[in-house]
Amino acid sequence: MELSKVEIKKVLDLLQDMYPDAECELDYKTPFQLLIAVVLSAQTTDKKVNEVTKLLFKDYPDLDSILKLSEEELQNFIKKIGLYRNKAKNIKNLCRMVKDEYGGKVPGTYEELIRLPGVGRKTANVLMSNAFSIPAIAVDTHVFRVSNRIGLAKAQDVLKTEKQLMDVVPKEKWILAHHMLIWHGRRVCIARNPKCSICQINPLCLYENKIL
Ligand code: SF4
Repeated sequence: MELSKVEIKKVLDLLQDMYPDAECELDYKTPFQLLIAVVLSAQTTDKKVNEVTKLLFKDYPDLDSILKLSEEELQNFIKKIGLYRNKAKNIKNLCRMVKDEYGGKVPGTYEELIRLPGVGRKTANVLMSNAFSIPAIAVDTHVFRVSNRIGLAKAQDVLKTEKQLMDVVPKEKWILAHHMLIWHGRRVCIARNPKCSICQINPLCLYENKIL
């Protein structure tokens, strides 16, 4: 079974009613800070990243100041979150690359972003859409799970999910759709025990294990 175009529009309208202000929940003031926050956010919560970056960005808010930190000093700032050694190494390397190859400015294209250490497809899409307002749908664990449960996508991997979402969601809503799906995934359609009984999308949702 598939959702019709009318039903897809209804799902998107309902999500927009529920989360009209959906936006990135990472705290940042500049594209550089967002880049660091997104690299730190792999396999941890935005809340934990915000706790760490609040302290880090207080004294080290930009590329040049973070370049002055040794890798060990950077590790000390971020060791509350998972994979911190690897993340510290990636951040130091990406800072050097942004400085040496992009003149100290975070690049705004997918091809340039994806070259940076620790930056994958999802991170590049988050950067493009949030920092530069370039339409993109970053598929993280929430977007993948929620869109496939509802039936906005029917895919086994994130890349296919991203392409299917780009087909069914109007381009002007790509950025908002990404945030709305994350918000729904964090608040209602959570990984274990989704709150189907209070979910407004329930009548349309195609998830076979949904609770009626
Ligand atoms: S009905 Fe359940 S599975 Fe479907 S979107 Fe709502 S919470 Fe998620």
